[in-house]
Amino acid sequence: MSRLDQIVDLEKRFLLSTYNRYPVAFERGKGVFLYDFEGRKYLDFVAGLGVNALGHAHPRIVKAIREQAARVIHLSNLYYNEYQGQLAERLCQLSGLDRVFFSNSGTEAMEGAIKLARLAGHKTAGDAKSQLVALHGSYHGRTFGSMSLTGQEKYRKGFEPLLENVTFVEQNNVAALHAAVNANTCAIVLEPIFGEGGILECSEEFLLACRTLADHYQAALIFDEIQCGLGRTGKIFAFQSFGVVPDIVTIAKPIAAGLPLGAFLSKEHFATTISPGQHGTTFGGGPLACRVGLEYLAIVEQERLLENVDRVGGYLHQQLQELVAKYAATREARGRGFIQGLVLDIPARPLVEQALAEGVLFNATQDTVLRFLPPFLLQEKHVDKGIKVLKKLLGKKRKKTHNVAEAATASL
Ligand SMILES: *Cc1c(COP(=O)(O)O)cnc(C)c1O
Repeated sequence: MSRLDQIVDLEKRFLLSTYNRYPVAFERGKGVFLYDFEGRKYLDFVAGLGVNALGHAHPRIVKAIREQAARVIHLSNLYYNEYQGQLAERLCQLSGLDRVFFSNSGTEAMEGAIKLARLAGHKTAGDAKSQLVALHGSYHGRTFGSMSLTGQEKYRKGFEPLLENVTFVEQNNVAALHAAVNANTCAIVLEPIFGEGGILECSEEFLLACRTLADHYQAALIFDEIQCGLGRTGKIFAFQSFGVVPDIVTIAKPIAAGLPLGAFLSKEHFATTISPGQHGTTFGGGPLACRVGLEYLAIVEQERLLENVDRVGGYLHQQLQELVAKYAATREARGRGFIQGLVLDIPARPLVEQALAEGVLFNATQDTVLRFLPPFLLQEKHVDKGIKVLKKLLGKKRKKTHNVAEAATASL
């Protein structure tokens, strides 16, 4: 029995069957590459679903973890540690928001954000101010609060009853937004760029309307930047490219370079509605994760990784657009920086499996979207390798090459 077969067999017997994994197990990684148990090398365009922004085994992260693990890993939130405040300060400087709560995951960051918005709503206008407005097609996580805000039937079905008072609006439909938001709204919740939902951006006009309505009705504007935030768009926060500042923003995936850490950041007005005892966590904000979070932000800055995301992301987008112009099975290239999607006319998963056999890792979402969430270290030569494999797998060329504008129109 191969090592992979042993691993698969054991999981089949002892794990809840919640994942539809690809047939590969990895032993280690270095930079933008992963290695399986036979020593085969894979180029990584997935980065652990956007978590491994610094790639694998970054020497500074390894060093910080080693040092801190030898000093203290966990203390609980009964006591102070030297890193939680420092990481909060840095996140506030970078975002312009005022206060931070640390969780262990994205979905928990969402739960905290909803709780804060409900508290503030009740304080402003009584218990009736509890309605949440979210978007169709969104993804916010798997716990009851965030699942209730997730506008996709497949994630909600079977788990009802969910959180009450959630209204869904179509992304970028300003009229529908106006119809949904009222004096009982305590929060408007959205991803500025849908990640799992297929790399779909909110328009600036729509985000601006959200901002105006939230201000008018004293509701919290909550941005879920768990996937698009912390550098993936080429800015530390995605909202910084859209010119609309939220009241609360949630982050998680890359912040502690693979250790579990999430957070929500809040403006003072909302933050001050919560008192000791009303929210908390055992693990969140521990010294190890927060020290690594500080190191993550320092590395992104000192290695000028956002410039790399901008430049190589632009190159990737251009290469994907060329595929759309040439290959019959492609429809549209979407996204920016290192959060991009290639919309196909065919199911994406078989393509991901074939690419795996070619030594390149892609991700499939929404059945027909190939998603690219590479490490920030990715270079042009890696893009070339990925595109070469895609060209091989996409097969038939279009009858006559037509330009990207035509392809984009055809997909509408
Ligand atoms: C991944 C993700 C979440 C959930 O984060 P978990 O750490 O898996 O709980 C929420 N929102 C968005 C946009 C995500 O991409």
